[in-house]
Amino acid sequence: MSPMRIKSIRVRLTLWYVVILGLIILVADLYLYKSFKSSIIASIDDTLYMLAEEVEHTILMEAQPTWRKEIKNVRDEFITHRFFIQVLEVKGSKGEKGIHRIIPSGVLAGSVYPKSRKNILTALKDSPEYVNVTYKSLSVHPIRIILFPVIKDTGTTYIVQVGTSLRKSYQSLDKLTIILSIAAPFMLLLSSLVGYLILTRAFQPVKSVVRTVDRISTEDLSLRVDSKGRADEIGELADTFNRMIERLEQSVHRIKEFSGDVSHELKTPLTIIRGEMDVTLRRERDGKEYKEAFISVYEEVKKLETIIDNLLFLSQADLEQSRAGFEKTPLFEILINEVEKMKTLADKKNVRFVIDEMEALYIKGNNLLLERLIMNVLDNAVKYTSAGGEVKVSLRKDNDHALMEIRDSGIGIPKESLPHIFDRFYRVDKSRADRSRGSGLGLSIVRQVAALHWAEVDVSSETDKGTRVIVRFPIL
Ligand code: ADP
Repeated sequence: MSPMRIKSIRVRLTLWYVVILGLIILVADLYLYKSFKSSIIASIDDTLYMLAEEVEHTILMEAQPTWRKEIKNVRDEFITHRFFIQVLEVKGSKGEKGIHRIIPSGVLAGSVYPKSRKNILTALKDSPEYVNVTYKSLSVHPIRIILFPVIKDTGTTYIVQVGTSLRKSYQSLDKLTIILSIAAPFMLLLSSLVGYLILTRAFQPVKSVVRTVDRISTEDLSLRVDSKGRADEIGELADTFNRMIERLEQSVHRIKEFSGDVSHELKTPLTIIRGEMDVTLRRERDGKEYKEAFISVYEEVKKLETIIDNLLFLSQADLEQSRAGFEKTPLFEILINEVEKMKTLADKKNVRFVIDEMEALYIKGNNLLLERLIMNVLDNAVKYTSAGGEVKVSLRKDNDHALMEIRDSGIGIPKESLPHIFDRFYRVDKSRADRSRGSGLGLSIVRQVAALHWAEVDVSSETDKGTRVIVRFPIL
């Protein structure tokens, strides 16, 4: 980064604005000057033409001695107005000798025509010619002259020259230059000052946003940027920022809540282990008592292991990236395999598995994740069903969805608990403790894995009648 880099957008914008405005003013001034100059010259040319026409008229209408006199009169009249008139006669075809000044101008004492001979010839060929001639002896300013050809009936050709000094025009132009060169920087200065002030005002809200944002830290995420009801870009920025902070606040809140839950859940088995050890170590025990204590500790350690394992899984499954590895997966195969695995446990409890319907359906997904989902649902079904009960499993097609249904004839879930069963660590009733070996994370995992597979989970249940879990996967 160059050390000269200007940090403030305000200053940078003002500089750009000044440069661009400066260029525009320069171009406008040049244009103004040029068009003013050409309009002055055009109006002078018009007057010169008009006078030349008048002289032509006199030459054409009158006999020579008379028009000479007349022209002299006209000339004298115009001299006061600083117009100079002289008439040249062109004899023969070409050559210097052929041009004579028959009515010379007293003021233009020098010889105008030799200098402008080329122009005279051009004028003879076409229309009138205009030339600027400078006579150092007369003035530093040039004289504008019209060369106006007049051909009499007799065939005699004259060149009427009418001229005037451009002094006044040049003086006006000089004045204009002075005015423009004073006004331009002044305008530039004024408008850049105004521009800077406007920008300062416009950026004021940004500063206040920056100040508020500075104050918002992880400690005080409840603060919000005040958009003051603005509907412009700044308001939009403030709203976007507020939404971001809102999400951040929510997730910080969730993290805090989650870590609280986790600590609590991990603490219970640890407290049990510690209590068990305390009691056991209080006095000498025989081998059988030690064994019992160990078994109890072992159970709690297993519980801890399950909780930690599930938590790890949940934190990984959060990753949307796992979708990248999704492929065509035979849902029916996974379901049949998981039922097989669960059968041993079910047999022990005297719970019967019934496969109702099994269509060979494929979905887009991940084998291991789906195994976990199905295992959790089946595990709950067996866990919360008493001996003699049954678990019915089916997989069928419903339009473009695969409908997986697992229905048990177990204890069911009370109505008021249904909305919470997907919450982390939620267990319906701690008194059903013998049954709930679980950590309360099983259904959280089910829902998370389902969401990753674009699937919906629906649980309906009736106390003492049973529970039905339906997962709707989009078919591949
Ligand atoms: P857990 O690991 O404790 O089973 P889950 O998240 O899997 O936790 O389930 C949450 C709660 O929902 C359980 O504690 C249980 O009370 C209830 N539940 C889930 N499935 C069933 C079911 N099939 N029958 C009865 N209750 C169920």
